[in-house]
Amino acid sequence: MTLTVLFAAGDAAFADYEAPLTRALSEAGLDARLVTEAAPEDVDYIVTAPNGWVQDFTPYTNTKAVQTLWAGVEGIVGNDTLTQPLARMVDDEGLTQGMVEWVTGHVLRHHLGMDAHIVNPDHAWDHQAPPLAAERTVTILGLGTLGTACARMLATVGFDMRGWSRTEKSVEDVACHHGDAGFGTALDGADIVVLLLPDTAATRNVLDAAAIGRLARGAVVINPGRGPLIDDDALLAALDEGQLSHATLDVFRTEPLPQDHPFWAHPRVTVTPHIASETRTDSAAREVAANIARCERGETLKGLVDRDRGY
Ligand code: NDP
Repeated sequence: MTLTVLFAAGDAAFADYEAPLTRALSEAGLDARLVTEAAPEDVDYIVTAPNGWVQDFTPYTNTKAVQTLWAGVEGIVGNDTLTQPLARMVDDEGLTQGMVEWVTGHVLRHHLGMDAHIVNPDHAWDHQAPPLAAERTVTILGLGTLGTACARMLATVGFDMRGWSRTEKSVEDVACHHGDAGFGTALDGADIVVLLLPDTAATRNVLDAAAIGRLARGAVVINPGRGPLIDDDALLAALDEGQLSHATLDVFRTEPLPQDHPFWAHPRVTVTPHIASETRTDSAAREVAANIARCERGETLKGLVDRDRGY
């Protein structure tokens, strides 16, 4: 029987996804029709985003799974009407590669002190070579798909790498710590900290004043994870006081970041507009189709979200 796949992520996204997703469904061997409208009881799968137009999932009584196009699910996981299995975007090679490039670029910017040479109005000849990467400790909070890929790349460059996750992990050339017990060890004396955790009840404000205080003096914070992971007031205080020398922030509690927010004006804050990475249509379409095929074979969905954990 032909499967009905309802695309609910909106018209603009559909314009991008219609062709690649139709092709990917076919290449996955699925007899499926991709639609933007259907009687709810006829829908087998919903492909959506946290801001998708289906917000009440109650009438979708025969829907086998809901697949989001986003890696972060904090905008949808708390929807009480969503009782169907929820899968988030994982292993979209474009999403992962984009994040690796963004994180590596921003870590290298701070490691090499690039700003001093790019913005040098007095033409100062400040002959100080940066240390080698091995002399710089970088901690990644979150060793999931994205954090692990970034940690591997930075380890290849030569940084002294640490990582932190909820459960125990093993990543080559990365000192892995986990749980409450491993948090302090992961942070103590780190020169650069990168946040790649999901936004959940357990991770909100994880980088607070106490955590920032454990970092090396003059450390750098890089946040492509989610805004609520950081206590903003503590961050600003640490920047003003010198415990932190810079913060590069891609995600915020309110997006777009309000024009009067102190981050815009702060001389040691770099704001990027939630562009660290994004789902790429071709590779994401293949992941969506593969997940539907997996579900049709009775296998567990890739990226199945645990509602209690929130990610
Ligand atoms: P994953 O779910 O694969 O990884 C999440 C990691 O966080 C896991 O290592 C997990 O631990 C860890 N974690 C979760 N809760 C805790 C906790 N309480 N204590 C310690 N560790 C915890 O996510 P991804 O790597 O795919 O993505 C990470 C985040 O990146 C997304 O949730 C999203 O917010 C953000 N993102 C940002 C983008 C941007 O453009 N700025 C683009 C895409 C994603 P464990 O391994 O033990 O489960």
